[in-house]
This record gives sequence, structure tokens and C-alpha cells, in this order.
Amino acid sequence: MRLQGKTILITAAGQGMGRASALACAAEGANVIATDKDAALLSGLEGIETRVLDVTDETAIAQLASDLPDLDGLFNVAGFVHHGTILDISDEDWAFSFDLNVTSMMRLTRACLPGMLRQAEATGSASIVNMSSMASSVKGFPVRTAYGATKAAVIGLTKGIAADFIAKGIRCNAICPGTVDTPSLRGRINAAPDPVQAEKDFVARQPMGRLALVEDITPIAVYLLSDESQFVTGQAMLVDGGVTI
Ligand code: NAD
Repeated sequence: MRLQGKTILITAAGQGMGRASALACAAEGANVIATDKDAALLSGLEGIETRVLDVTDETAIAQLASDLPDLDGLFNVAGFVHHGTILDISDEDWAFSFDLNVTSMMRLTRACLPGMLRQAEATGSASIVNMSSMASSVKGFPVRTAYGATKAAVIGLTKGIAADFIAKGIRCNAICPGTVDTPSLRGRINAAPDPVQAEKDFVARQPMGRLALVEDITPIAVYLLSDESQFVTGQAMLVDGGVTI
């Protein structure tokens, strides 16, 4: 059990990669605290502690942090995909994208880090993992300018935290998935004028000829949260089925 005894908080754990990661971490022995803004989506996570958390709510972050045990792991998953070119981005869209995708990660990490530093001092390590994307500083995609800018910022945030706390036992890495079959991806497909073509287009940008499953991503999250990755920090790990070969 690679996460035995570790206490790990995960955001956006109601569905998609967050939920699958909560289940995978629990299966590896972690005490998972699964959070999401939608309480109903947290149901059915048997044996896992659940908390409602809207990561854009600064007050809620402060309240949760004051109530948490010292964490061994933090997995910042919550994020939103803006669809459009720069000509379609309103100032509100841009601000919302950065608030949800970047500022929330900074705030939650800032709130949890004092406890993680105590935990790292006691046990030797603690690990932060941030959800980025292949659509970031790694590669540009059509109609993903706001999204890509936020996910590039997530990589910068990750590297900064990693550099500042490397001597204190804190590691910080980002995961950059390819196109993953999750409820929100299905929503983007169904919202397209031609959903059948939209799905074909998403598959076509994956050289392996298929979408990623959440199970393609969760082993990387478990690895980065575990001591197996103790010499790995400040990295943006591509799990993209060969898109960026
Ligand atoms: P999803 O988008 O299907 O689910 C998102 C979850 O986030 C939902 O449970 C929702 O309730 C929750 N959520 C939304 N706003 C929230 C908020 N303000 N506070 C807390 N929770 C909130 O899940 P997904 O597709 O696995 O995406 C998860 C992350 O992975 C996102 O950051 C996304 O940008 C990133 N990502 C997704 C893909 C993909 O193809 N699906 C690829 C690369 C990166």
C-alpha cells in the first residue's frame, strides 16, 4: 500500500479524474479527504471522508484549512475549460478562468502548506500535485487560449513552490493529461454543433487513437503523492498518449 497512513486532500473529487484519484488513493491506504463544490457528487465515495469546498470561496478555504489535520498530500484538481479564441474571451471569462484554475490552487496550497511543512518535518516529506494540461505552456490548441494560459500558470506555480520548499521536504509537481474521457469532456462533446464529429476530432488529436481513461491518469497521481517519487519535484508530467512526442 503505497499511501498507507498518508492524509491526502483532493479537490473536485465529485467526478472525473478527481473522483478516480480519491478512490485510487484510498485503495493505496490513504486517509482521503475528498472535496467538491457539489455535495451530491460526493455521495457514494464509500469509506472516504467528504467535505463540500468551492475552491473559489476564499472564506471556505480558510475555514476548511483551520479544521484540517496536517496533510501529507494535496491534489489540486479543480479546473474549468473556456472554449474560444482570444476574440471570444471576455474580461469576465478570463478572470473566472484564472480565479478557478490558478488562484484557487495558490490559495488552497498557501492555506495547507504550514500544516504540510509540520508534517514534512515529522515524516520527511509531503507532496503537492497540481492538475495542469498538455494544453498549457507545453502545446497550443485551437480555441483553448484562456485555458492554456491558466494551465501554463499552473506549471509556473508548481515550479515556484517546488523551488521554495525543496529543502523543507515539500515536493510539488504538475500532471499534464491529454484528452480524458470525463463528464466535462462529454459535456463539451455534446455541446458541439455535431457531437459525433466533435468526438472524432478529440480522438483524432490523440495519436494512440483513443481518449485517455481516468485510470490512465490516476497511477501518476498516486506515484507523485507517494514516496516512490521522492526524487521528483518541480516537474510537469505529460500523460498525453503521445500528443507531444
Ligand atoms: P470534470 O471537469 O468532469 O469534473 C470537475 C469537477 O470539479 C466536478 O465534480 C465539479 O463539481 C468540480 N468543480 C467545478 N468547479 C468547482 C469549484 N469551484 N470548486 C470545487 N469543485 C469544483 O473533471 P475532469 O475532466 O477530470 O477535470 C479535472 C481537471 O483536469 C481540471 O482541472 C481540468 O482542467 C483538467 N484536465 C482535464 C482534461 C480532460 O480532457 N478531461 C485534460 C487535461 C486536464
